[in-house]
Amino acid sequence: MKPYLKTTPDRDGFFGEYGGAMLPPPLVPHFAEICDAYDRLSKSAEFINDLRYIRKHFQGRPTPISHLRNLSDMAGGAQIYAKREDLNHTGAHKLNHCMAEALLAKHMGKTKLIAETGAGQHGVALATAAAYFGMECEIHMGEVDIAKEAPNVVRMKLLGATVVPVGEGAKTLKEAVDSAFGSYIDQADHALFGIGSVVGPHPFPMMVRDFQKIVGIESREQFVDMTGELPDMVTACVGGGSNAMGIFSGFFDDEDVALYGVEPLGTSSKLGDHAATLTYGQDGDIHGFRSKILVDENGNPAPVNTLASGLDYPGVGPEHAYLQKTGRVTYSTADDKESLDAFYKLSRHEGIIPALESAHAVAFALREAKNHPGKSILLNLSGRGDKDIDYVTETYGYGE
Ligand SMILES: *Cc1c(COP(=O)(O)O)cnc(C)c1O
Repeated sequence: MKPYLKTTPDRDGFFGEYGGAMLPPPLVPHFAEICDAYDRLSKSAEFINDLRYIRKHFQGRPTPISHLRNLSDMAGGAQIYAKREDLNHTGAHKLNHCMAEALLAKHMGKTKLIAETGAGQHGVALATAAAYFGMECEIHMGEVDIAKEAPNVVRMKLLGATVVPVGEGAKTLKEAVDSAFGSYIDQADHALFGIGSVVGPHPFPMMVRDFQKIVGIESREQFVDMTGELPDMVTACVGGGSNAMGIFSGFFDDEDVALYGVEPLGTSSKLGDHAATLTYGQDGDIHGFRSKILVDENGNPAPVNTLASGLDYPGVGPEHAYLQKTGRVTYSTADDKESLDAFYKLSRHEGIIPALESAHAVAFALREAKNHPGKSILLNLSGRGDKDIDYVTETYGYGE
């Protein structure tokens, strides 16, 4: 059988019935150019070697796997392990695809990177990549988010990016996407849109997955090295779904390894209280691709809610919708309360302060460990929690 990653998606970017590219006409030739460039570069020894060099000497890869002994003892069942993407430069997995997108842009002769950002994590990672390659960087951000996420705005500016405030509508992520896309249409001859997850029109869901695949490749090798076997279960939080696709990519062809995506259940399963798109959504189109989405009674993208702003999206990467349908990945949820509890526990008992996003995967592992004595669970610790400590302690204190 051909390896999963070599057969998915098809030439047009479809994962089963999901994915594709629904583009405004002016962007069609530019996306064709991106597809051609990626097709060529993904097979080029020079591109692959450049990326290897960057990962080792700039990002600090490989990141380790840590055995969470204390949490495993407390949970009393499976042994829990964490892939430490919090130790990747800039503190999360996002730099894995941002560096590769910037390298792609450079090979295409582009001089500028454009993107939107919500909480600012993607903006900081892309601005870092732009600084490394000496490129211009333009990040669109809602005015509400600019006020809420001041330290990331400072970081982006220090890194040399232009932050464009967006004052339309609710002044948050959705408006920032629209604004960034508008600006990209005008500059697509010399700029590349740096999409922040495995979402958007083809080829981005495939490219971003391929750029994150390093997490899974390292994980498989390190886990076998450490324990002599493969993990029984692998889990990751799912917002757009890039860190999950990264770690899952190491294990698709290992049929005995069970894969679990964890969506944010927020405060309840009522529409508007969560962002669990695969669990409660329906088939539909969003931002140029077909996937599952959360919609309101009028068919518009529904408001979403979670403690972890990086998981706050009413859509999800099309490959996740496909993997849910084929049954290769099982999708579950963790709510705000149990994720916060996991945030405190990992900090207090393992010495690792996780991002609130990653804490959802920790919560799932803690819950499942009890039911699987003698088994092993590998979770993707997608990022560190420095960005969340002020909010968490001011709102909820220091835990028990
Ligand atoms: C952005 C972010 C996520 C969510 O994005 P995915 O594409 O679903 O991985 C998860 N964890 C961290 C730390 C993030 O910054």
